[in-house]
Amino acid sequence: MAETQNRVDYSKAKPIIHRRDLRWWNKTYIPQILRGMTVTLAQVFRPKFTRQYPEEKWNPPPSFRGRPVLVEEKNGVERCVACGLCARVCPALAIEVQGSESEYWKERYPVKFEINMLRCIYCGFCEEVCPEEAIVMSQDYELTFTRQQDAIFGKEKLLIPAEKLKERLEFLRANR
Ligand code: SF4
Ligand code: SF4
Repeated sequence: MAETQNRVDYSKAKPIIHRRDLRWWNKTYIPQILRGMTVTLAQVFRPKFTRQYPEEKWNPPPSFRGRPVLVEEKNGVERCVACGLCARVCPALAIEVQGSESEYWKERYPVKFEINMLRCIYCGFCEEVCPEEAIVMSQDYELTFTRQQDAIFGKEKLLIPAEKLKERLEFLRANR
């Protein structure tokens, strides 16, 4: 009985949305068309910023995430210690690392380090987790392949001298 008394009678409730009928000039759609043409015409007289790529190259800022590369020290040895964290975190399963004991100051080094550039989504997770700043996102965005196997980059293509990656390394240190 009490349940019946608490029920709300929605048939008497006032409508919340009040729809207005369009005026006759709105029904012609001429004002909307004119407004759209004004926006288009305003763009015509603005300065153009189309880049004539590839003749005119774009130099990305240090915050840009291009293809991931391995940092090479001055003595020609990679910083990577083959911990495998980057391969573990990579959401696209694009990295393959095989480590071995090394004769250098570090205990381990990657015998094999490969990134499948067709899988890479340039998320930068590998760069974030690396404890050695050994893998970073470069400014290279020009990647073209004619065969799938060409997209698998080994150490010979991944290693880049640290001086060339200075801007990105400094950006990471300043923003971490
Ligand atoms: S940038 Fe992302 S997808 Fe590409 S190799 Fe690194 S973790 Fe994997
Ligand atoms: S690049 Fe960094 S995270 Fe990846 S295996 Fe080498 S040291 Fe570990």
